Amino acid sequence: MTAATSQATFPATTDVLVVGAGPTGLALATSLCRLGADVTLVDLGTEIRTDSRAAGVQPRTLQDLDRLDAAGPLIAKGLKGTGFRVANRDGTLLELPYAGLDTPYPFLLLVPQSETEQVLRDALTAAGGRIWSGYRLLELHQEFDAVATLVAGPDGLVHSVRARYVAGCDGLHSGVRGQAGIEFAGQRRPQEYALADVRMTETSPTPRVTFTFSPDGMLLQSPLPDGIVRVVASVPDATGALDRAGVQDLIDRRCGPGDRATVAEIVRSTPYTVTSRLAATFAKGRVFLAGDAAHVHSPAGGQGMNTGIQDAVHLAGLLAQVLRPDDPGDPGDPADPADPADPSILARYDAERRPNAAALLAFTGQLTAVAELSDPEQMRLRDQVLARSRDVPGLPQFFARRLAQLDVPAAGWPAS
Ligand SMILES: Cc1cc2nc3c(=O)[nH]c(=O)nc-3n(C[C@H](O)[C@H](O)[C@H](O)COP(=O)(O)OP(=O)(O)OC[C@H]3O[C@@H](n4cnc5c(N)ncnc54)[C@H](O)[C@@H]3O)c2cc1C
Repeated sequence: MTAATSQATFPATTDVLVVGAGPTGLALATSLCRLGADVTLVDLGTEIRTDSRAAGVQPRTLQDLDRLDAAGPLIAKGLKGTGFRVANRDGTLLELPYAGLDTPYPFLLLVPQSETEQVLRDALTAAGGRIWSGYRLLELHQEFDAVATLVAGPDGLVHSVRARYVAGCDGLHSGVRGQAGIEFAGQRRPQEYALADVRMTETSPTPRVTFTFSPDGMLLQSPLPDGIVRVVASVPDATGALDRAGVQDLIDRRCGPGDRATVAEIVRSTPYTVTSRLAATFAKGRVFLAGDAAHVHSPAGGQGMNTGIQDAVHLAGLLAQVLRPDDPGDPGDPADPADPADPSILARYDAERRPNAAALLAFTGQLTAVAELSDPEQMRLRDQVLARSRDVPGLPQFFARRLAQLDVPAAGWPAS
């Protein structure tokens, strides 16, 4: 293992080839650099995407980002959200407050994904790493002691790279997953959604995420920095991207008077559908999957990007133990914590992270199903149960802790 990696020429060998510099790949490469591993991070893109994706960073993720010295800079760019609120047109049904959670970060950080990626890029540079931008993984072949890969550079030249391990952090359409022959079963939900980042004429003094249920469908309002509010609503098929009047109409029809803001301007607007898929395994031979390459699900509850970052920090902790050099004073002693760990410990990644992702798919699927109810009696019952659970001691805190992902075990990192 050599120290991490700001070379000027594209390497022919590396300990870990990380494919994809979204939040997952950035968190993995930064973690590996900080743990002293040799890592090569490639991404076919050349810039950070600025479209509307993750808008919330959970406390559990901030704890992982703290290991990368990235929590503080990210918090400086976001709003400290107080948690989630569930309402119908008559008012609040349930509050899920993050204040009082057992974490150094008892808030939901409201910040666009592009800012999270920028902070992670800065952390990578500070750790001595870099992104090979414009480099696309073409092929991989698993061999006994390495993975042979072909990577096309921005000039069209194809490079042959031998990696001891490959991490597919290359998103929903992962080529690494396909090349490794890992199945990605699941389905798309029929319900369509519209997402619009808007500016309102007035901003709420309390930054919190509000889900409103109505007979017409659900509508979410989530503040973001710079006076932007993310609005997400279930919509009829083929509605497409909403304009200002369309968003206003949904707010007026679905929200109670206290939640009816006036839309001044659309910043971005896009339709989307919800897909739920889980990789059959997160590890095959020397190839690992993390983030959206391994699991995709409904954005309800703001969990996807968070889980990818947590996968990455977890995987880095295991890989670093296997990749560390022999202790020169006592080489080859597997009981010596300074020697490389047996590669069998890498099995823990799939064993620990895949069940976590499976539970997440079930949880976000339930949230989505509850939000999509359309039968009037079922909706009435839902609202009644939510309103009553407000008064059950500890229940709102239990749900808040679950959304904050504080019940997910923290990754073990070797002592530095
Ligand atoms: C509308 C919407 C709202 C969302 N809201 C939330 C939310 O509130 N909270 C939350 O936590 N999550 C949310 N998500 C999910 C979140 O955006 C994803 O989970 C996150 O982007 C996954 O990060 P990733 O790094 O795993 O993959 P990606 O961000 O998809 O990054 C993959 C990277 O791999 C690169 N790549 C692909 N193929 C190759 C190749 N062959 N060679 C080299 N590079 C390659 C791509 O260029 C890309 O940069 C939302 C998603 C959507 C669509």
